[in-house]
Amino acid sequence: MTSTLFTGITELVTNDALLEGADHSEHLGLLNDAAVVVQDGLIEWVGPAAQAPPADQRQQVGGYAVIPGFVDSHSHLVFAGDRSQEFAARMTGVRYDGGGIATSVNATRAASDDELFPLVAARVAEMRSQGTTTVEIKSGYGLTLVDEVRSLQIAAELTSETTFLGAHVVPPEFVDRRSEYVDLVAGEMLEACAPNARWIDVFCEPKSTSAFTEDEARTVLSAGRDAGLGLRVHGNQLGHGPGVRLAVEMGAASVDHCTFLTEEDVEQLAAASETTVATLLPGVEFSTRSPYPDAGRLLDAGVSIALASDCNPGTCYSSSIPFVLALAVREMNLTPAQALLAVTVGGAKSLRREDIGVIRAGNRADLAVLDAPSYLHLFYRPGVPIARTLEPGGRHGR
Ligand SMILES: [Zn+2]
Repeated sequence: MTSTLFTGITELVTNDALLEGADHSEHLGLLNDAAVVVQDGLIEWVGPAAQAPPADQRQQVGGYAVIPGFVDSHSHLVFAGDRSQEFAARMTGVRYDGGGIATSVNATRAASDDELFPLVAARVAEMRSQGTTTVEIKSGYGLTLVDEVRSLQIAAELTSETTFLGAHVVPPEFVDRRSEYVDLVAGEMLEACAPNARWIDVFCEPKSTSAFTEDEARTVLSAGRDAGLGLRVHGNQLGHGPGVRLAVEMGAASVDHCTFLTEEDVEQLAAASETTVATLLPGVEFSTRSPYPDAGRLLDAGVSIALASDCNPGTCYSSSIPFVLALAVREMNLTPAQALLAVTVGGAKSLRREDIGVIRAGNRADLAVLDAPSYLHLFYRPGVPIARTLEPGGRHGR
């Protein structure tokens, strides 16, 4: 029960709309020359350094900016194998259609638990080293009952935000028996995976043979809901499609990608903004040479948005939220403040969490520190590793 007072914070981004004395002009709850007290993994006090209460120990942050740790609400970290050749081919003009997932499925099935766990743990550590404090991890490269179960067991050792994605693609052995695979995912596989999953997700696209149709996706999501899991959808990535409509209809917490949206999709998302978050994954557009969705347009329409990495071996093998932030501002019509809100408060909302994303007494002490005087440097200095998590007793500065 040791309390720690962090002082020397040049600029504190709290995201707390109710914090007295803070600058609320861009909804970041900005405080200069601030201090934070944490104890037992929770925030105890936030305010101006001059008013800080005593604590058991004091830690000088040393003139840097502190922000809420990033909430990466969409990742696929449980996989083995390497698809760098596929990436290189795509960069020379080969279009992505989702088929390359089978490569990762084969490698993941072939890897033992002892081989797979360290790979996933290293990816989580890589995220933390860049300022991410919450990560959602999906299964989806096993696609057999046994391999999906062990994927989720590994994920559950590293995060509480685990997602069963048996409906990632139709595996090769089921291509001529799609309905049998849907029955397996919505039946026996779900039952075996549910104890280690908080969420269920489906890759829903109309034009791809490897993804799932609207009816198939509805079957899987309904079964997941009956099993007590929250709902997420991969939708509207490869073209216009039913993903957004289905997510809104079923009250999913998040519909992810949203690369191709009609006016009707945007209206539906705006009307469902309290329930369903549109999670944008610009690292995928970058890595697949796809057009970026206009996130500014979504905000103007009243849609709730999040930004996440989608870290995966095929369409975006980057775990870097700062990279995502730079893309969001440069390519997706967001201001730096809007982008930062989307990877903190937005990510938290898409995971239906209120204890993260905002630096406020009572919330988790999930903090990130920047080697910079202001959060603006996240965007101003793209590619420079200035963000990392901040913990009592941890290292500061370089
Ligand atoms: Zn994904």
